[in-house]
Amino acid sequence: MPTDFALTRRQFDLPEGVIYLDGNSLGPLPKAVAERVGQTITEEWGKLLIGGWNKAGWEAMPMAVGNRVARLIGAEPDSVVMGDTLSIKIFQLLASALEMRPDRRVILSDTGNFPSDLYMAQGLSAMLGQGYSLRTVAPEEVMEAIDDSVAVTMITEVDYRTGRKHDMRAITARAHEKGALTIWDLAHSAGALPVDLAGSGADFAAGCTYKYLNSGPGGPAFAYVAPRHQSRVRPALCGWLGHDAPFDFDPDYRPAPGVARLRVGTPPVLQLAALEASLDIWETVDMGDLRARALELTDAFIAGVEAACPDLKLATPRDHAMRGSQVSFRHPEGYAIMQALIARGVVGDFRAPDILRFGFTPLFIGPEDVEKAVSVLAEVMATRAWDRAEYRVRARVT
Ligand SMILES: *Cc1c(COP(=O)(O)O)cnc(C)c1O
Repeated sequence: MPTDFALTRRQFDLPEGVIYLDGNSLGPLPKAVAERVGQTITEEWGKLLIGGWNKAGWEAMPMAVGNRVARLIGAEPDSVVMGDTLSIKIFQLLASALEMRPDRRVILSDTGNFPSDLYMAQGLSAMLGQGYSLRTVAPEEVMEAIDDSVAVTMITEVDYRTGRKHDMRAITARAHEKGALTIWDLAHSAGALPVDLAGSGADFAAGCTYKYLNSGPGGPAFAYVAPRHQSRVRPALCGWLGHDAPFDFDPDYRPAPGVARLRVGTPPVLQLAALEASLDIWETVDMGDLRARALELTDAFIAGVEAACPDLKLATPRDHAMRGSQVSFRHPEGYAIMQALIARGVVGDFRAPDILRFGFTPLFIGPEDVEKAVSVLAEVMATRAWDRAEYRVRARVT
């Protein structure tokens, strides 16, 4: 059955009059979340107290929810685990991958990667010493830069700024040909487009759930380890819940079988409950339908803005194969323009130095929203409505 996007849209609680083009940064609230989390609080925490870990299945949530996320990213059963934040998961996966390539010292990434990923690689290299380093090249040069000094590639599939998409299959194949491992950051892929981790031969992946997967602010990350590597991975962060038998309280660490060894400490049960309510909506979504709709929306937005706003310069590739589910335009006054848009109910965001970023999330954004957003943006540009001192005052979060 084709995905009913009118139905998915009705399952979100969006403020009246707002066109929310920032679901790529913080997904909006699914209507079912309040009840689901409320029930976890009153019926489980409130009544079961400590018994909730067994009776309400809290203990099993990181793997159980991981299996629901697995479907959206083409991962094998029992190869995805939930917990911590994306930055932490990147650190863990990097440390594991480096240990599996002991004769190599280079982490390869691109200059468009999200700073936290790069910082994690820098921090880990400094901690390890022994000549480990992070090498970054332009996104277009990644393929060429994979040589036999590279231990691991750490690439975010879709660039958070420009929306440019890498070819996961090709990069993974090239890395393997050169003897390197791959870590894929799916922050702007999970819930944004079809991902085929198993089919691409990816080694490791991680992503967050508070963006396209709508788990709410602070929602946990997910981590993926290909089944063929799971028994070889030594977690750098050896927490008790990643232990083979946490309730033996053994003073010596012994990793759990499988991907569960990437668990660290106590899971965020309330946030996982919120994610579960959101995943109920995702159960009704076909990723092929989602992709077709997202391309339709992004194409329409690009065409509309280019026709009406000659001063905005497209930063996102036109080629469908090279595009995620967002559209970015450059303008030196991008910050002020975005504030003027937000004041008019069209919510995107700004990424330094000059990027206006608009996320297209078919679960709750349709063609009529695109049309309205284009007309508001055209009006803001034509009248220079952005040119006000108040729109230049930078908030802490942009
Ligand atoms: C959003 C994002 C992050 C954020 O990491 P957290 O630890 O969840 O704050 C990391 N990497 C990329 C590529 C992102 O887009």
